[in-house]
Amino acid sequence: MAITGIKGFNDILPGEVEKWQHIEATARRVFGLYGFAEIRIPILEKTELFARSIGDTTDIVEKEMYSFEDKGGNRVTMRPEGTASVMRAFIEHKLYAQDPVAKLYYLGPMFRYERPQKGRYRQFHQIGAEVTGVTDPKVDAQVLTMLCQFFAELGLTEPQLQINSLGCPDCRPVYRQALKDFLRAKLDLLCDDCKRRFETNPLRALDCKATGCKEATAGAPSVLDHLDAACQEHFAAVRKNLEAVGTAYTINPRMVRGLDYYTRTTFELVTGLLGAQSAVAAGGRYDGLISDLGGPSLPGIGFAMGVERVALLLAEEEFRKRPDLFVAALGDDAQAEAFRLMCALQKLGVAVEMDYEGKSLKSQMRRADKFNARFTLIIGGDEIAKGAAQLKNMDAGIQEEVTLAAEAVAGKVKG
Ligand code: ATP
Ligand code: MG
Repeated sequence: MAITGIKGFNDILPGEVEKWQHIEATARRVFGLYGFAEIRIPILEKTELFARSIGDTTDIVEKEMYSFEDKGGNRVTMRPEGTASVMRAFIEHKLYAQDPVAKLYYLGPMFRYERPQKGRYRQFHQIGAEVTGVTDPKVDAQVLTMLCQFFAELGLTEPQLQINSLGCPDCRPVYRQALKDFLRAKLDLLCDDCKRRFETNPLRALDCKATGCKEATAGAPSVLDHLDAACQEHFAAVRKNLEAVGTAYTINPRMVRGLDYYTRTTFELVTGLLGAQSAVAAGGRYDGLISDLGGPSLPGIGFAMGVERVALLLAEEEFRKRPDLFVAALGDDAQAEAFRLMCALQKLGVAVEMDYEGKSLKSQMRRADKFNARFTLIIGGDEIAKGAAQLKNMDAGIQEEVTLAAEAVAGKVKG
């Protein structure tokens, strides 16, 4: 029996991959406008890095990590997200010594042991960006506006920006206590997970999808009513900056993120088109993370988007690339001539296809159809004798004579 891939680990096949390339190219271009440089981080890290940054009581660390002992007995984990690794690299290579303000982006596979379903996989891909060293809320607005510009340039209007503030280590404990006092009388309604982490991580109940948790948290106190003066001021300034540059948002005071390192501004880009997999991108500030990981005391903010979810939103569009030209040939001499012409044109930067083994003209034309080339050229004995052939523009349906020389053909079919 043939060996199949592992559940939740997907192949991205030609036809689909062009969409991914378009998403990646758009991200690189838009992020470049905002001054971001790419960083490439390894897939495997010490387990401790994620346990310490993401938090011991989060879903990711509690149940989703691909962790194992390598042959040297080291505890390692296949990265479930990118921020921890980027900050580890930022600290390890002392990037802050050159400039505390680093703007970095990354893309690549992440791994989480979750139940595979549409928009949720065990190997999935993120494109993420991080900014270190700026507390000023202008940078929050920059990051959010860049993310919205990325979606707009993909032609997507659907994911809506929602923002919230989770406060800081000074005011969040006060809110946690208020929420616990509110929930204590309704503990029975909470799902097992939320019951278990009631003491350690009660905020998670706010965005838990279980019906009981929704019921228990209805009318719960809002984090926004518990921000201290500095956090209130920061959140107000983020809003003012977003409004100043025309970045639309709504406030969702129940949005708590599944990673412990977030402080102050948090956000999600949410869609109604992907069922329970509604978050297409998410992120926030992490003003304590860099120092928690042993680095200098610098703030940070960032996001990650799920490329599979972005690709699902783009599903209707056709990204498959079309060759510029298809060359068909009748007879051995013409086949040889077509082959030479194709190679010469490819060297000139023209995308050309032919049917390598094509016998009848009919089967060659069937392949031409499949490639959907912009132009076709049919060469036979007469054309070779004349040194010219009919070049057909497939979109316009018109044809004209062209000299059988690479430069001449290239001049007609390029751009
Ligand atoms: P969710 O609530 O859907 O589990 P999350 O809060 O765990 O998302 P983050 O850790 O914030 O997600 O990751 C950022 C983005 O990565 C998500 O918004 C989503 O688009 C994507 N993502 C997260 N987990 C998966 C997965 N298992 N499969 C596909 N995409 C994912
Ligand atoms: Mg998750």
